[in-house]
Amino acid sequence: MSKKKDFLRTIVENDLKSGKYKEIVARFPPEPNGFPHIGHAKSISINFGIARDYNGRCNLRMDDTNPTKEDTKYVEALEDAVRWLGFTWDGNVRYTSDYFSQLYAYAIELIKKGKAYVDSVSEDEMRQLRGTVTEAGKRSKYANRSVEENLELFERMKKGEFQDGEHVLRAKIDMAAANMKMRDPLLYRIRNVAHFRAGDAWAIYPMYDFAHCLSDYIEGITHSLCTLEFENNREIYDWVLDTLELKPPRPYQYEFARLNINYTVMSKRKLLELVEGGYVNGWDDPRLPTIAGYRRRGYTPESILTFCDQIGIAKANSVVDVVQLEFCIRDDLNTKVPRVMCVLDPVKVTIENYEGKEEIDASYYPADIAKEGSRKMPFSKEIYIERDDFSENPPKGYFRLTPEQPVRLKYAYIIKCKEVVKDDSGNIVEIKAEYYPDSKSGEDRSGIKVKSAIHWVSVADAKQVEVRLYDRLFKSEAPEGIEDLNPDSLKIIKNAFIEPAVITERPDERFQFERQGYFYAEPQDYSDEKPIFNKIVGLKDSWGKKTTKERRGRSKTTEAKKVQIDGEVAPMNEAQQALFDRYTQELKLNSEVANTLARDEKLSSFFEEEALKEHSTPVNIANIVTNEVARELKQKEIAELKFQPKQIAQLAAMIDDATISTKIAKEVFETMNESGEDPKEIIESRGLVQISDPAVIAPIVADIIEKNPDNVEKFRAGNKKLLGFFVGQVLKATQGKANPQVVNKIVVEKLNEG
Ligand code: ATP
Ligand code: MG
Repeated sequence: MSKKKDFLRTIVENDLKSGKYKEIVARFPPEPNGFPHIGHAKSISINFGIARDYNGRCNLRMDDTNPTKEDTKYVEALEDAVRWLGFTWDGNVRYTSDYFSQLYAYAIELIKKGKAYVDSVSEDEMRQLRGTVTEAGKRSKYANRSVEENLELFERMKKGEFQDGEHVLRAKIDMAAANMKMRDPLLYRIRNVAHFRAGDAWAIYPMYDFAHCLSDYIEGITHSLCTLEFENNREIYDWVLDTLELKPPRPYQYEFARLNINYTVMSKRKLLELVEGGYVNGWDDPRLPTIAGYRRRGYTPESILTFCDQIGIAKANSVVDVVQLEFCIRDDLNTKVPRVMCVLDPVKVTIENYEGKEEIDASYYPADIAKEGSRKMPFSKEIYIERDDFSENPPKGYFRLTPEQPVRLKYAYIIKCKEVVKDDSGNIVEIKAEYYPDSKSGEDRSGIKVKSAIHWVSVADAKQVEVRLYDRLFKSEAPEGIEDLNPDSLKIIKNAFIEPAVITERPDERFQFERQGYFYAEPQDYSDEKPIFNKIVGLKDSWGKKTTKERRGRSKTTEAKKVQIDGEVAPMNEAQQALFDRYTQELKLNSEVANTLARDEKLSSFFEEEALKEHSTPVNIANIVTNEVARELKQKEIAELKFQPKQIAQLAAMIDDATISTKIAKEVFETMNESGEDPKEIIESRGLVQISDPAVIAPIVADIIEKNPDNVEKFRAGNKKLLGFFVGQVLKATQGKANPQVVNKIVVEKLNEG
């Protein structure tokens, strides 16, 4: 583990060291009364993550003690969520209801010890007797019942001889306790209803405070990790286990902070309200913070786990900026997915001096991404471009097509506008244009300067697709309820046009639509006749501008960076433009990176001042600066950083000479960021050096191939997507240390041998 240890891992480690436990057993104990949300993902990643890190086990337990709200569909959703996040629970899924008989036996023991009694006061009276924070409570007169009477009544409660609310079983603790929860808490109540698993067997159901600690004990849990709101329940947890004098070892409860995210609600009750009220389309609506929602929207499990890692484990509640989650998915997809072209709001361009048709080579990945692949884009006389990539009355700083200003069609030619055709109401229906035959990308001899390149598709070859654009479900940062819903959270575009390779070649399920954002082939409604894509996230945070006032706390430079909205860009000043030109032309940075750097003074000075002097690897340095360093500089000034620009340059150089992979580099960066150590030292002391030797990698590949005969067969039968699976397995087996390019090559060779 490269990360600093959190307080829970410190506790766990000490308990192992001291011999308190031989093995760590954790559990994730949801109540199956709703779909799990990203808060649960945090809990899952903590419980399963700790078990994994210390070679322990983690149970999945349905805390099903509330018979009226629970349902098997929620059980399935919970299982799906844990599996999708990549974890495996120990043994079968467990249920608190499986322990009902054992719990009942423990309750009888408490009664026999004189530590529990059947109370029969009304709810009102019970409340009054409980006292207040400043005033001790009083015990009800029924607390004096004999053990025999309590045993008899409790058995009759179980048999269903009473109405709901007639009696309860209470612990006999202390009606004057400062912790109100310790004032003779309820252990059982009568509910004459069937349970979704236990059926009619029980007319009484145990309360959380009684059931949870004992279920933990029954399962041999060592560390019972829960959220802060259970802090006051810890005393009961301990009281029950201690009073029953159970055989050690017993579990202990520790609390951590709940995850809250702005612009969203995160309680199952509120989510249920949205689902049942029809404000969203089911629990897996891509706008919901449910795991099923993120999954359907196109988030990857990796991005969610990275997010959980980044937010860490704290002891104080706070609200995390949703921008951070969006950053994680963007960062993950950036290195993984092909870039393609899709025009969302098409306007036709007729290139009058172009005849015939050609196929244009276009790479799926930009140069700084370690993946290869390309497709042929059909080019013809009629193309679609984005309506707002043309302007008759351009604002200052508009770089795209205007009646005076030519523009490049990415990967293809430069065009200029000749004539604008409008309908009776003045809407543009067509742009007549001309192209420069000697301006083809890669062999441009035209000498024409353009300020930007836009995406396009060929009218005759493009496929019409539906695109679902999602925005935040709530318009306010701390939403209360449905009155804060964002009315524009879903926009459906029926007539977007996408280049044909996306449909026929299917290079992936997730894509970057150039200049638009990241998209996902809708997992349920997609069909070949009617392809549908979900927008996962934009290329940049598009809320920065709208909410500038709310974010006044942020630094000016970050603010400036946030003004870049998907597609639309605020004009650069002269100095920024000069930097941008130098970055793209001399240093060959891609325009997105160059743009980010040029517009952010803090970032560009960090990049320029020293990082560049040190080494000649500007592309890698720029990538680390715009991703990793930028994240830190959002909260800090340069002087507050633990690392020096020089060290970033060293890190970049090691990516450059293949000493480490970009993935490992991220890990190294995290350590540099915390400790200020030199990257070389970190890499050496942790043995992180990249493995590029084919002689070392080949046997690992052979092993993975041998272990996965089904997938080998599928690959050989034509499912080329499985290449990623094999490469991933090898990377996993080497903890990310194998050189992906070498792995890729060997995997391809070996798979094609058979
Ligand atoms: P909600 O309040 O959303 O209904 P809950 O706490 O009632 O959630 P449970 O099903 O009881 O949900 O929770 C299962 C586990 O997940 C518990 O250990 C709980 O502490 C944890 N958990 C729930 N919400 C969060 C959150 N927002 N952040 C971290 N952990 C959470
Ligand atoms: Mg709950």
